[in-house]
Amino acid sequence: MVRAGATIEGLLRESRLPRREAELLLQGVLRCERVHLIAHAEEPVDSSRAIAARAWFSRRRSGEPVAYIIGVREFYGLAFRVTSAVLIPRSETELLVELALGRAGPSARVLELGTGSGAIAVALWSKRPDLKITASDISHAALEVARRNADTHGADIDFVQSDWFEAIGPGPFDLIASNPPYVAEGDPHLKQGDLPSEPRVALLAGDDGLACVRAIAAQARYHLSPGGRLLLEHGYNQGESCTALLDELGYTQVEDHRDFAGLPRVCTGTLRD
Ligand code: GLN
Repeated sequence: MVRAGATIEGLLRESRLPRREAELLLQGVLRCERVHLIAHAEEPVDSSRAIAARAWFSRRRSGEPVAYIIGVREFYGLAFRVTSAVLIPRSETELLVELALGRAGPSARVLELGTGSGAIAVALWSKRPDLKITASDISHAALEVARRNADTHGADIDFVQSDWFEAIGPGPFDLIASNPPYVAEGDPHLKQGDLPSEPRVALLAGDDGLACVRAIAAQARYHLSPGGRLLLEHGYNQGESCTALLDELGYTQVEDHRDFAGLPRVCTGTLRD
């Protein structure tokens, strides 16, 4: 008996995945936009592509993040290549980009620490090509991904391999931004969602999740120009600790900002003139 070829709709249904995830995976296999899946729902998919789609569905059912399977994630309206060497960009991090854009003057010298896929640095450049952007990461593999994303988007960014400020010159920088690791060791969230597949080095920051925030905030004072701005993303329950830390370290105009979900997400401060 000849088995009828699968249609687009048939494949989406048999995936047993949430609709949007199945669509993203099938879009990746067919290299098409979502509208194509809808407009051609009842059309057959050739067998080699149907096999490829089923393989990706199965990887997803085993817990692998959609972004790693298809190798792409959208952030700030731009497509970024992602691999398991980098954190998957999160939409809440767009707040950090917005705040940085609002605080960076013309031709400001900007440093982004722990760039991962390069999403923040490239998003900044996409809106403000006047900025002089340096972006660092401790991971060579991550920097390869970031460089590739910068090339794809034509972004002129200076990449440096560095453990926070270790290989960064004195600057000074007018703005330093980071979405550092901020999850506490043993946090139950590490077992949820995409986190189990993501690099530990991009997530974990000591017993209280604040080790990297502390190190960056302390050292940034020696790399910021007078009046320079520091912007740090943090966990939903770390807003008060971060503002207290920046106050203690002598930053002024210390404020915490909520993300689109209403959660405390980014702490900002200014180095005294
Ligand atoms: N926002 C990530 C989370 O979901 C953590 C990323 C980070 O540590 N910077 O938990």
